[in-house]
Amino acid sequence: MRLAGKTAFCTASGAGIGLATVRAFRAEGARVIATDINSKAVDALRDEGIEAHRLDVTDAAAVAAIARDTGPVDILFNCAGFVHHGTLLDCEEKDFDFSFELNVKAPYRVTRAFLPGMLEQGGGSIVNIASVASSIIAAPNRFVYGATKAAVIGMTKSIAADYVTRGIRCNAICPATVESPSLEARMRAQGDYEAARAAFIARQPMGRIGQPEEIAHLAVYLASDEAAFLSGQAISIDGGWTNI
Ligand code: NAD
Repeated sequence: MRLAGKTAFCTASGAGIGLATVRAFRAEGARVIATDINSKAVDALRDEGIEAHRLDVTDAAAVAAIARDTGPVDILFNCAGFVHHGTLLDCEEKDFDFSFELNVKAPYRVTRAFLPGMLEQGGGSIVNIASVASSIIAAPNRFVYGATKAAVIGMTKSIAADYVTRGIRCNAICPATVESPSLEARMRAQGDYEAARAAFIARQPMGRIGQPEEIAHLAVYLASDEAAFLSGQAISIDGGWTNI
């Protein structure tokens, strides 16, 4: 049990990478507090025996309240994010603001709520979900999304630097395309589902889309003491995309 004795607070746990990660954290012995904006997803998590609460990470008061109720944690998994599809000219101010609110300000807010407890107990591991579409590589029609995920990497490095002597590690996972309900919706929204799926697969040298469980394995490692010497890194997990 690689996470035995640890408590993990997780956002966006209802589907995709977030769901796979709370399951993996639990399988490795962590006490998991899973959260999601979607009440049905919260009920489904509870049906699996996972402690789950409804939380919209854009709601500052709700984040403060749940952090107060939860108390100190060892692992913070910031997963919530939104993909806006489009170029700069497609991105209206409301799209820009919402993307930054959910993808950047929310992990700032959640981390700010939980970091004091981590510091009090002498350490912890923060794992942020960024993307290879960020400061690492450009992807078509990911203008504001890429900008937000670049900001997540910057924030990750800054937190790691500021608290490295106080037992805090902070890393970012940068996935390429991963199977999830929102990916399915994005492919359907493009009109020709098969063409959209083929285009996503074409840019993966391994010839396939990633599975959420593959991202969860990396999250377990980063959350665990096995990664005790690893902080401030943006780790690509991308089927070879950014290597070629
Ligand atoms: P997803 O986007 O399909 O959904 C995950 C969950 O987020 C859902 O259960 C949803 O209810 C919840 N959610 C949405 N808004 C929320 C809010 N305001 N507060 C709390 N929860 C909220 O899952 P995914 O595609 O696995 O994405 C998870 C993270 O991984 C995101 O940050 C995304 O940008 C990132 N990511 C995804 C991919 C991919 O291809 N799927 C690739 C790289 C990075």
